[in-house]
Amino acid sequence: MILGSTGSIGTQALEVIKEINETEQTEEYKVFALCANNNIDLIEEQARRFAPRYCVLYEERPARDLAVRLSDTPVKVLSGIDGINFIASHDDADYIINALMGQIGLIPTLDALRCGKTVGLANKETLVAAGEIVMRTARENNAQIVPIDSEHCAILQCLQGERASDVEKLTLTATGGPFFGKSRADLENVTVSDALKHPTWRMGKKITIDSATLMNKGLELIEAYWLFGIAPENIDNIEIVIHRESIVHSLVQFTDKSVKAQLSLPDMRMCIRYALSYNNKGAGGRMKCKADELDLTRIKTLSFAEPDYETFVLPQLARFAIKESGTLPARMNAANEIAVDLFLRESIRFLDIFDLVEKAVMRHKNIKNPTLGCIINCIEETNNEFKRHFI
Ligand code: MG
Repeated sequence: MILGSTGSIGTQALEVIKEINETEQTEEYKVFALCANNNIDLIEEQARRFAPRYCVLYEERPARDLAVRLSDTPVKVLSGIDGINFIASHDDADYIINALMGQIGLIPTLDALRCGKTVGLANKETLVAAGEIVMRTARENNAQIVPIDSEHCAILQCLQGERASDVEKLTLTATGGPFFGKSRADLENVTVSDALKHPTWRMGKKITIDSATLMNKGLELIEAYWLFGIAPENIDNIEIVIHRESIVHSLVQFTDKSVKAQLSLPDMRMCIRYALSYNNKGAGGRMKCKADELDLTRIKTLSFAEPDYETFVLPQLARFAIKESGTLPARMNAANEIAVDLFLRESIRFLDIFDLVEKAVMRHKNIKNPTLGCIINCIEETNNEFKRHFI
């Protein structure tokens, strides 16, 4: 099942499923349900090609229209958060790709984990907002979370066959986004279209802006902390390095100072394939595919640099938030989500994202060991606070 099927990861996941069904002899993937926000044309086309049992649109009206359009097929159409939660916990779905955008991805992830399902997680905000609860729910229900993000997918691959106690350091690579090398003054007047020009990856708008601010790396740092069970005192052993070429997707250093890295051309379908085969073929299992080969002699050089944290303050803010933990990461994430949305709608300037998120974090009364209710309250309060100021 794919939550967020019309987005960048969702459409690429369907490409991968089609490719697997055409090339692999041993297994076939059946799409159980597709879910999107309101892109009725694309989901209709997907429904006709992949014949799922359910389609869910978050918005009510487009869902009604879709039901009419698909009335000549056996596909059942549902709507709203209830529809999403219904399919996320359905007995007949065993693998859920969660590629929803934003913190809305949290509840369906928890629903799926409670039912013991495997979640291919491309939704960062889930672990950022409620990492402790999400990981505990997975453990208690014997459910698995497999990351669909190039950095975490790389780390997962590097960790195969290694002992957790031998891991010394994780290094997340970052492209640096379109504004690498720029000073704060240079960023004063950058536009939405400048910020959307990502040098190497094709992705949705929210994550592309997060890459331009480097918040993306902050969110990934928090995700890595939860996914790979890093001890709180070792948060500083998760390091960020700028790597413009997006070939080395992340690295793991072990106690003997040996370092493993995973390399490939930048293509999210690689991570989706790995996340699917990790589940089906057992840890480390791999699939055949037709993707282009990495030719190092053509790439010639791979460069690495330290991030400029004076200009790009958000990754260190994320590090601070996860050290403090409690509701602070959820607060930071909620503020960032709204700030990015305001920037995309040209209501605020690029640098305002930094300032708004920083202020939201600094003004927060942190609640330690929060319940899920506490976290959801914190997200709602942050949303309301921003609404009062901007809308
Ligand atoms: Mg990434």
